[in-house]
Amino acid sequence: MVTTTTPGPVLIPQLQCESDVGIDTIPLTSEVSFGSWQRDIPDAYHQLGSEELVTRVRAARAALGDRVVVLGHHYQREDIIQFADERGDSFMLAQYAAERPESEFIVFCGVHFMAEAADILSAPHQQVVLPNMEAGCSMADMAAPGDVRAAWRELEDLFGSGDDIIPVTYMNSAASLKAFCGEHGGVVCTSSNAVEVLEWAFTQGKRVFFFPDQHLGRNTGHAMGVPLEEMTLWNWRLPAGNLGGATPEDLERSRIILWQGHCSVHQRFSTTQIDTAREQYPDAKIVVHPECRYEVVEAADAVGSTAYIAHYVAEAPAGSVIGVGTEINLVSRLAKEHPDKTVFCLDPVVCPCSTMYRVHPAYLAWVMESLAEGRVVNRLVVPEEEQANARIALERMLALRRAGA
Ligand code: SF4
Repeated sequence: MVTTTTPGPVLIPQLQCESDVGIDTIPLTSEVSFGSWQRDIPDAYHQLGSEELVTRVRAARAALGDRVVVLGHHYQREDIIQFADERGDSFMLAQYAAERPESEFIVFCGVHFMAEAADILSAPHQQVVLPNMEAGCSMADMAAPGDVRAAWRELEDLFGSGDDIIPVTYMNSAASLKAFCGEHGGVVCTSSNAVEVLEWAFTQGKRVFFFPDQHLGRNTGHAMGVPLEEMTLWNWRLPAGNLGGATPEDLERSRIILWQGHCSVHQRFSTTQIDTAREQYPDAKIVVHPECRYEVVEAADAVGSTAYIAHYVAEAPAGSVIGVGTEINLVSRLAKEHPDKTVFCLDPVVCPCSTMYRVHPAYLAWVMESLAEGRVVNRLVVPEEEQANARIALERMLALRRAGA
């Protein structure tokens, strides 16, 4: 159990983070944000404490056996992650489930776009269940399909509809955007293969339209040697017809057009936090996720995906001090798993991904007990046509991996 707490929280409901009182499990109805979570969970689950929930999930898990595979994203809380048959990043987990056709149910403890990816990659007889249907992703939500299509039309008007511009979507996006990329000669990338994917994209077209995370796009472009002046931000909040706030000249000279989206967790990290960490621990190494801002990535010693960060900490010599710029549940777990090292989160405020946090153990108990009783609740289904096009974009990425690009 993670016991990190924030001393002396200021309890103003509107400003409160779910974890202002710590990231241990409390009854569902004691959660400050429960009002905006999935509400049709039966009342019987509302008041259950951590211990009882864990016991009940364990019993349902045992009853279901191999019929179910439980997946846990790295950012899930300990009371969830302990049930995961596999933990990892979203793409790795979706692939893991697809490789286990004996499991007819895939319970994906993560957020909406991850469960969608599992549904796209798994076999037709496998059913994907998302414990809390309100567990979305604020970054993915910043790229609404209608806004992306409207932006694409403006870009086509400017550049023509040939192969000049290639859409690339980050894994952290809706299935409909992956389908959009499949339809338009584009591709999906993850935080571990973004360089390889963009290199491929530049063999297909003159420029890339990258969404939804501006920071991953910018950091990747910079790592590839694309000057910052050749990356232009597209402000999706502006009404259509404004070229996303850019000028035709900005866009003409751009090699990467960046959707103005971000991860609310990773955008919290700052160079001031890195300076403070280095003052406190002069020998500290700093490792951050590429969803962090450009200047944070530049100030760090290393940058990489969640898998990279976990590997970085595991491989560091005993006695190392490592400041990490990623979600608190992963950082706390790494600290616990490597007691011979000092591992800490750069952000002093204990604020987990608020949407990942919505997968409260009460929801897991509900969906697992329902499955054990022969009822499927919270099944997530991607429409067939969307699946087909999204699979094209995912397959392009997988082909690059197979080719060792
Ligand atoms: S950590 Fe960021 S990108 Fe990941 S699910 Fe949460 S908001 Fe979305």
